[in-house]
Amino acid sequence: MEYYNILNLKPNATREEIKKAYRQKALEHHPDKGGNPDMFRKINNAYNILTNSDFKINLQKCDNSKHIIEIPLNTVYFGDTKRFKIHRQVLCNFCNTTCENCNGTGIIKQSHQISFFQQIFNVVCPRCNKKGIVKGNMNCSSCKDKQYVTETKIIEINIEKGVYDNQVLDIITDWGIQPSNFTQIAGDLYIVCKVLDHPDFRRRGDDLFFTPEITLSQSLVGGNILIPHLSGSYNFDITGFGIIDPNQIYTVIGKGLPSKSSNKYGNLDIQFKIVYPKKTFNQIELQKFKHTLKELNLLSLR
Ligand SMILES: [Zn+2]
Ligand SMILES: [Zn+2]
Repeated sequence: MEYYNILNLKPNATREEIKKAYRQKALEHHPDKGGNPDMFRKINNAYNILTNSDFKINLQKCDNSKHIIEIPLNTVYFGDTKRFKIHRQVLCNFCNTTCENCNGTGIIKQSHQISFFQQIFNVVCPRCNKKGIVKGNMNCSSCKDKQYVTETKIIEINIEKGVYDNQVLDIITDWGIQPSNFTQIAGDLYIVCKVLDHPDFRRRGDDLFFTPEITLSQSLVGGNILIPHLSGSYNFDITGFGIIDPNQIYTVIGKGLPSKSSNKYGNLDIQFKIVYPKKTFNQIELQKFKHTLKELNLLSLR
Protein backbone atom coordinates (compact mmCIF):
# COMPACT_ATOMS: atom_id res chain seq x y z
CA MET A 1 0.00 0.00 0.00
CA GLU A 2 1.23 3.40 -1.02
CA TYR A 3 0.33 4.96 2.35
CA TYR A 4 2.41 2.46 4.31
CA ASN A 5 5.33 2.98 1.93
CA ILE A 6 5.25 6.75 2.43
CA LEU A 7 5.74 6.25 6.17
CA ASN A 8 8.18 3.32 5.71
CA LEU A 9 5.85 0.93 7.49
CA LYS A 10 4.83 -2.69 7.09
CA PRO A 11 1.13 -3.23 6.30
CA ASN A 12 0.56 -4.80 9.75
CA ALA A 13 1.90 -1.73 11.63
CA THR A 14 0.09 -0.86 14.84
CA ARG A 15 -1.47 2.51 15.55
CA GLU A 16 1.44 3.38 17.82
CA GLU A 17 3.98 2.50 15.15
CA ILE A 18 2.09 4.63 12.63
CA LYS A 19 2.11 7.59 15.02
CA LYS A 20 5.82 7.20 15.74
CA ALA A 21 6.72 6.91 12.05
CA TYR A 22 4.54 9.89 11.24
CA ARG A 23 6.19 12.14 13.86
CA GLN A 24 9.64 11.21 12.61
CA LYS A 25 8.76 11.73 8.92
CA ALA A 26 6.83 14.94 9.54
CA LEU A 27 9.80 16.46 11.38
CA GLU A 28 12.16 15.39 8.65
CA HIS A 29 10.03 16.85 5.82
CA HIS A 30 8.49 19.88 7.52
CA PRO A 31 8.43 22.82 5.06
CA ASP A 32 9.63 25.16 7.85
CA LYS A 33 12.80 23.07 7.98
CA GLY A 34 13.34 23.15 4.26
CA GLY A 35 11.29 20.05 3.48
CA ASN A 36 9.28 19.57 0.31
CA PRO A 37 5.66 20.76 0.91
CA ASP A 38 4.33 18.12 -1.47
CA MET A 39 6.06 15.32 0.43
CA PHE A 40 4.85 16.80 3.71
CA ARG A 41 1.30 16.80 2.39
CA LYS A 42 1.64 13.14 1.37
CA ILE A 43 2.93 12.20 4.82
CA ASN A 44 0.00 13.98 6.48
CA ASN A 45 -2.44 12.37 4.11
CA ALA A 46 -0.98 8.90 4.71
CA TYR A 47 -1.18 9.42 8.47
CA ASN A 48 -4.77 10.62 8.31
CA ILE A 49 -5.81 7.66 6.23
CA LEU A 50 -3.91 5.00 8.17
CA THR A 51 -5.16 6.18 11.53
CA ASN A 52 -8.72 6.11 10.31
CA SER A 53 -9.71 2.73 11.73
CA ASP A 54 -12.29 2.09 9.05
CA PHE A 55 -10.12 2.95 6.09
CA LYS A 56 -9.63 -0.60 4.86
CA ILE A 57 -13.35 -1.00 4.29
CA ASN A 58 -14.23 2.53 3.40
CA LEU A 59 -11.38 3.80 1.32
CA GLN A 60 -12.98 4.71 -1.98
CA LYS A 61 -11.42 5.83 -5.17
CA CYS A 62 -12.97 8.98 -6.57
CA ASP A 63 -14.03 8.99 -10.21
CA ASN A 64 -11.53 9.54 -12.94
CA SER A 65 -11.90 12.56 -15.14
CA LYS A 66 -10.95 13.56 -18.65
CA HIS A 67 -8.92 16.41 -20.02
CA ILE A 68 -9.57 16.72 -23.74
CA ILE A 69 -6.91 18.05 -26.09
CA GLU A 70 -8.38 19.21 -29.38
CA ILE A 71 -6.01 18.80 -32.30
CA PRO A 72 -6.34 19.61 -36.00
CA LEU A 73 -5.86 16.90 -38.61
CA ASN A 74 -2.47 18.45 -39.45
CA THR A 75 -1.23 17.30 -36.03
CA VAL A 76 -2.26 13.74 -36.91
CA TYR A 77 -0.06 14.11 -39.98
CA PHE A 78 2.99 15.67 -38.35
CA GLY A 79 2.68 14.83 -34.63
CA ASP A 80 3.23 17.49 -31.95
CA THR A 81 4.11 18.15 -28.34
CA LYS A 82 1.65 20.01 -26.13
CA ARG A 83 2.48 21.72 -22.84
CA PHE A 84 -0.34 22.87 -20.60
CA LYS A 85 -1.32 23.30 -16.98
CA ILE A 86 -3.71 21.15 -15.00
CA HIS A 87 -5.20 22.07 -11.64
CA ARG A 88 -6.67 20.24 -8.68
CA GLN A 89 -8.23 21.24 -5.39
CA VAL A 90 -6.55 19.19 -2.68
CA LEU A 91 -7.99 18.83 0.80
CA CYS A 92 -5.72 20.80 3.13
CA ASN A 93 -3.83 18.47 5.45
CA PHE A 94 -2.72 21.16 7.83
CA CYS A 95 -6.11 22.06 9.22
CA ASN A 96 -8.51 19.26 8.29
CA THR A 97 -8.68 16.13 10.41
CA THR A 98 -10.79 13.01 10.15
CA CYS A 99 -14.01 13.35 12.13
CA GLU A 100 -13.66 10.88 15.00
CA ASN A 101 -17.37 10.70 15.58
CA CYS A 102 -17.98 8.96 12.23
CA ASN A 103 -14.44 7.79 11.40
CA GLY A 104 -14.43 10.07 8.42
CA THR A 105 -17.38 8.48 6.69
CA GLY A 106 -19.86 11.29 7.43
CA ILE A 107 -22.44 8.69 8.45
CA ILE A 108 -23.12 7.15 11.86
CA LYS A 109 -25.28 4.20 12.81
CA GLN A 110 -28.04 4.82 15.25
CA SER A 111 -30.14 2.10 16.84
CA HIS A 112 -33.76 2.41 17.72
CA GLN A 113 -35.60 -0.01 19.99
CA ILE A 114 -39.21 -0.75 19.11
CA SER A 115 -40.54 -3.34 21.57
CA PHE A 116 -38.49 -6.46 20.73
CA PHE A 117 -36.94 -5.11 17.58
CA GLN A 118 -33.84 -3.07 17.26
CA GLN A 119 -33.66 -1.00 14.12
CA ILE A 120 -30.36 0.37 12.83
CA PHE A 121 -30.41 3.62 10.90
CA ASN A 122 -27.69 5.39 9.01
CA VAL A 123 -27.81 9.03 9.95
CA VAL A 124 -25.74 12.03 8.95
CA CYS A 125 -22.97 12.64 11.45
CA PRO A 126 -24.00 15.76 13.40
CA ARG A 127 -20.42 16.65 14.26
CA CYS A 128 -19.09 17.04 10.73
CA ASN A 129 -22.41 17.37 8.90
CA LYS A 130 -21.69 14.49 6.49
CA LYS A 131 -18.31 15.85 5.45
CA GLY A 132 -16.23 13.25 7.31
CA ILE A 133 -13.71 15.92 8.22
CA VAL A 134 -13.55 18.69 10.76
CA LYS A 135 -11.54 21.84 10.47
CA GLY A 136 -9.05 22.13 13.31
CA ASN A 137 -6.88 25.19 13.66
CA MET A 138 -8.14 28.47 12.27
CA ASN A 139 -5.76 30.89 10.54
CA CYS A 140 -4.33 28.05 8.47
CA SER A 141 -1.42 29.45 6.54
CA SER A 142 -1.52 26.63 4.03
CA CYS A 143 -5.07 27.07 2.68
CA LYS A 144 -5.99 30.51 4.13
CA ASP A 145 -8.90 28.67 5.80
CA LYS A 146 -10.44 27.60 2.51
CA GLN A 147 -9.84 23.95 3.51
CA TYR A 148 -8.59 23.23 -0.01
CA VAL A 149 -5.29 24.05 -1.67
CA THR A 150 -5.09 24.59 -5.41
CA GLU A 151 -2.25 22.70 -7.00
CA THR A 152 -0.99 23.19 -10.53
CA LYS A 153 1.10 20.88 -12.63
CA ILE A 154 2.63 21.41 -16.04
CA ILE A 155 2.03 18.48 -18.35
CA GLU A 156 3.92 17.78 -21.52
CA ILE A 157 2.21 15.40 -23.88
CA ASN A 158 3.83 13.89 -26.92
CA ILE A 159 1.25 13.42 -29.67
CA GLU A 160 2.45 10.74 -32.04
CA LYS A 161 1.82 10.83 -35.78
CA GLY A 162 -1.29 8.89 -36.75
CA VAL A 163 -2.99 9.48 -33.37
CA TYR A 164 -6.63 8.37 -33.26
CA ASP A 165 -9.69 10.32 -32.23
CA ASN A 166 -10.51 9.59 -28.55
CA GLN A 167 -7.10 8.01 -27.98
CA VAL A 168 -5.90 8.16 -24.36
CA LEU A 169 -2.57 9.99 -24.59
CA ASP A 170 -1.60 9.74 -20.93
CA ILE A 171 -3.01 8.99 -17.48
CA ILE A 172 -2.01 11.38 -14.70
CA THR A 173 -2.36 9.44 -11.45
CA ASP A 174 -4.30 11.20 -8.65
CA TRP A 175 -5.20 14.30 -10.72
CA GLY A 176 -8.83 13.32 -11.40
CA ILE A 177 -11.75 13.97 -9.02
CA GLN A 178 -10.32 14.90 -5.62
CA PRO A 179 -11.30 13.50 -2.20
CA SER A 180 -13.63 15.51 -0.01
CA ASN A 181 -12.56 13.58 3.09
CA PHE A 182 -9.83 11.17 4.14
CA THR A 183 -11.78 8.00 3.38
CA GLN A 184 -11.41 8.71 -0.32
CA ILE A 185 -8.45 8.60 -2.66
CA ALA A 186 -8.12 10.75 -5.74
CA GLY A 187 -9.21 9.53 -9.16
CA ASP A 188 -6.91 9.69 -12.16
CA LEU A 189 -6.92 12.20 -14.99
CA TYR A 190 -7.14 10.81 -18.53
CA ILE A 191 -5.62 12.99 -21.23
CA VAL A 192 -7.74 12.28 -24.30
CA CYS A 193 -7.24 13.43 -27.87
CA LYS A 194 -10.07 14.87 -29.96
CA VAL A 195 -9.28 15.23 -33.65
CA LEU A 196 -11.11 18.21 -35.12
CA ASP A 197 -12.87 18.08 -38.48
CA HIS A 198 -10.89 19.42 -41.42
CA PRO A 199 -12.59 21.70 -43.99
CA ASP A 200 -11.33 19.65 -46.96
CA PHE A 201 -10.45 16.16 -45.80
CA ARG A 202 -12.35 13.48 -43.99
CA ARG A 203 -10.49 10.74 -42.22
CA ARG A 204 -11.18 7.04 -42.74
CA GLY A 205 -8.64 5.17 -40.63
CA ASP A 206 -5.29 6.02 -42.19
CA ASP A 207 -6.88 7.13 -45.45
CA LEU A 208 -8.02 10.62 -46.37
CA PHE A 209 -11.14 11.34 -48.36
CA PHE A 210 -11.34 14.42 -50.53
CA THR A 211 -14.20 15.68 -52.75
CA PRO A 212 -12.90 18.48 -55.00
CA GLU A 213 -15.15 20.34 -57.41
CA ILE A 214 -14.14 20.25 -61.07
CA THR A 215 -15.66 21.86 -64.15
CA LEU A 216 -17.43 19.88 -66.87
CA SER A 217 -14.56 20.55 -69.28
CA GLN A 218 -12.00 19.34 -66.67
CA SER A 219 -14.06 16.18 -66.28
CA LEU A 220 -13.83 15.59 -70.04
CA VAL A 221 -10.40 16.82 -71.11
CA GLY A 222 -8.49 16.92 -67.82
CA GLY A 223 -6.43 19.70 -66.26
CA ASN A 224 -4.83 20.61 -62.95
CA ILE A 225 -6.69 20.55 -59.67
CA LEU A 226 -5.32 22.01 -56.45
CA ILE A 227 -5.05 19.56 -53.56
CA PRO A 228 -4.75 21.55 -50.31
CA HIS A 229 -2.86 18.64 -48.74
CA LEU A 230 -1.81 18.51 -45.08
CA SER A 231 1.80 18.20 -46.21
CA GLY A 232 1.44 21.31 -48.40
CA SER A 233 -0.84 22.21 -51.32
CA TYR A 234 0.07 20.85 -54.72
CA ASN A 235 -1.28 20.69 -58.25
CA PHE A 236 -2.55 17.36 -59.41
CA ASP A 237 -2.92 16.68 -63.13
CA ILE A 238 -6.03 14.64 -63.92
CA THR A 239 -5.40 14.57 -67.65
CA GLY A 240 -5.20 10.96 -68.69
CA PHE A 241 -7.81 9.77 -66.20
CA GLY A 242 -10.33 9.51 -69.06
CA ILE A 243 -13.79 10.96 -68.62
CA ILE A 244 -14.17 11.54 -64.90
CA ASP A 245 -16.88 9.43 -63.30
CA PRO A 246 -18.38 11.26 -60.29
CA ASN A 247 -19.39 7.91 -58.77
CA GLN A 248 -15.89 6.49 -58.83
CA ILE A 249 -13.19 6.81 -56.16
CA TYR A 250 -9.76 7.66 -57.52
CA THR A 251 -7.00 6.56 -55.14
CA VAL A 252 -3.63 8.24 -54.80
CA ILE A 253 -1.38 5.72 -53.04
CA GLY A 254 0.60 6.91 -50.01
CA LYS A 255 -0.97 10.37 -49.78
CA GLY A 256 -3.05 9.59 -46.70
CA LEU A 257 -2.15 9.80 -43.01
CA PRO A 258 0.84 8.18 -41.32
CA SER A 259 -0.06 4.83 -39.86
CA LYS A 260 0.46 4.27 -36.15
CA SER A 261 1.18 0.58 -36.57
CA SER A 262 3.72 0.81 -39.40
CA ASN A 263 5.80 3.59 -40.88
CA LYS A 264 3.68 3.60 -44.03
CA TYR A 265 1.08 6.13 -45.09
CA GLY A 266 -2.55 5.54 -45.98
CA ASN A 267 -4.07 6.59 -49.30
CA LEU A 268 -5.85 9.66 -50.54
CA ASP A 269 -9.26 8.78 -51.96
CA ILE A 270 -10.72 11.35 -54.30
CA GLN A 271 -14.32 11.56 -55.45
CA PHE A 272 -14.83 14.39 -57.94
CA LYS A 273 -17.86 16.62 -57.84
CA ILE A 274 -18.60 17.92 -61.32
CA VAL A 275 -20.04 21.43 -61.42
CA TYR A 276 -22.09 21.67 -64.61
CA PRO A 277 -22.29 25.00 -66.46
CA LYS A 278 -25.71 26.67 -66.64
CA LYS A 279 -26.02 26.78 -70.39
CA THR A 280 -28.60 26.15 -73.06
CA PHE A 281 -27.25 25.51 -76.54
CA ASN A 282 -28.75 27.26 -79.55
CA GLN A 283 -29.44 25.21 -82.71
CA ILE A 284 -26.07 25.96 -84.31
CA GLU A 285 -24.14 25.09 -81.13
CA LEU A 286 -26.21 21.96 -80.71
CA GLN A 287 -25.38 20.78 -84.24
CA LYS A 288 -21.67 21.51 -83.69
CA PHE A 289 -21.71 19.63 -80.43
CA LYS A 290 -23.49 16.60 -81.90
CA HIS A 291 -21.05 16.59 -84.78
CA THR A 292 -18.06 16.57 -82.43
CA LEU A 293 -19.58 13.80 -80.31
CA LYS A 294 -20.23 11.77 -83.46
CA GLU A 295 -16.62 12.27 -84.57
CA LEU A 296 -15.44 11.01 -81.17
CA ASN A 297 -17.78 8.01 -81.36
CA LEU A 298 -19.54 9.26 -78.26
CA LEU A 299 -22.98 10.05 -79.59
CA SER A 300 -24.78 6.87 -78.67
CA LEU A 301 -22.26 5.34 -76.29
CA ARG A 302 -22.87 4.71 -72.60
ZN1 LIG B 1 -18.45 13.06 11.38
ZN1 LIG C 1 -5.71 24.54 5.83
